Amino acid sequence: MSSPVISRRGLIKCAGAGLAAGAFPSSAVPNFRSAGSPVAISSANGLATVTHAVQRMTEDNLRPVSAAVEGVGIVEADPADRSVGLGGLPDEDGKVTLDAACMDGPTHNAGSVAAIQDILHPAQVAELVMDRTDHVNLVADGARRFALDHGFEATDLLTESTRKIWLKWRSRRTDDDRLWPLDDKEPVDSALQGEARPWGTIHCSALSPEGSLGCCTTTSGLAFKIPGRIGDSPLIGCGLYCDDGIGSAGATGRGEAAILSGGSWLVVERMRAGDTPEEACLHALRRVGEQAYKGSKWQPALWEDDRPSFGLTFYAVRKDGLYGSASMFGKPKFAVADGAGARLENCAIAFPS
Ligand code: ASP
Repeated sequence: MSSPVISRRGLIKCAGAGLAAGAFPSSAVPNFRSAGSPVAISSANGLATVTHAVQRMTEDNLRPVSAAVEGVGIVEADPADRSVGLGGLPDEDGKVTLDAACMDGPTHNAGSVAAIQDILHPAQVAELVMDRTDHVNLVADGARRFALDHGFEATDLLTESTRKIWLKWRSRRTDDDRLWPLDDKEPVDSALQGEARPWGTIHCSALSPEGSLGCCTTTSGLAFKIPGRIGDSPLIGCGLYCDDGIGSAGATGRGEAAILSGGSWLVVERMRAGDTPEEACLHALRRVGEQAYKGSKWQPALWEDDRPSFGLTFYAVRKDGLYGSASMFGKPKFAVADGAGARLENCAIAFPS
């Protein structure tokens, strides 16, 4: 059976005619045409990231995965971002351990490092794992040694400010539950807006003017995690995934939920099935909601009224340049840059209040 060739305009027409998700039989793959202009999408902390990625793809012809890795490096090096790289919140022992991965659309290759310490730019190490080895994942000390062997310098990533936050958290810890005590309304740090267990990450998916794709996710993970815990960010198909013929996607938020749903893979597969990026992100979030175990005191769980108790956001860009993002609840934004410049836009919401 020959594949249908559907332009962006054609796809929008199909959607208008009520023919969107599930329009393509599983054996038929939509043949998206590149729109000829670059796009980079990221979490809201990535305005500079998407700006940089688009500029490097456009002016220097950098491949999308490298543009994304370079772009997230700006946030990795920012001590004010408590969720990534330098200044990221530590694990329960006060050690900053980082997870990062990248994926290259044209080669369908990927690299990742998990629970790596002392390395400022874990996403760059993940790119080296992808380019210079036939492995995909390196963890902990092996990942650190690989980075040092390739010339990365050991850097202390705990700042004076994150050390104080960690000490405060430790002094208030009451039992084996590492959550910030729920009845304690004093925020762990004003920048974290009173999150019980703060987290954050940056994901960037990039589309080149020629229509190839690449992506990267990098994080310090869940704050005060058990040493050795890794999240979704270094796991291909969970915190990021791309298929050069279809699109690219990634996640930020409660990593366990993105792992248990294979979230980023699911978003790309929904785009393959005909969803727009936003529809695909919403579909994945609703699937997470359906799958969440309803009786657990541990996250990811649902509130009693069937609403998720955890945040999760997906970001997606399709090969033809259409992009979108969706989040569990609230009024979050995402960052995007294209030929019209860089801006923040609103995420769609899966479980509106
Ligand atoms: N997804 C990351 C993790 O669970 C954290 C985050 O995005 O906030 O490690």
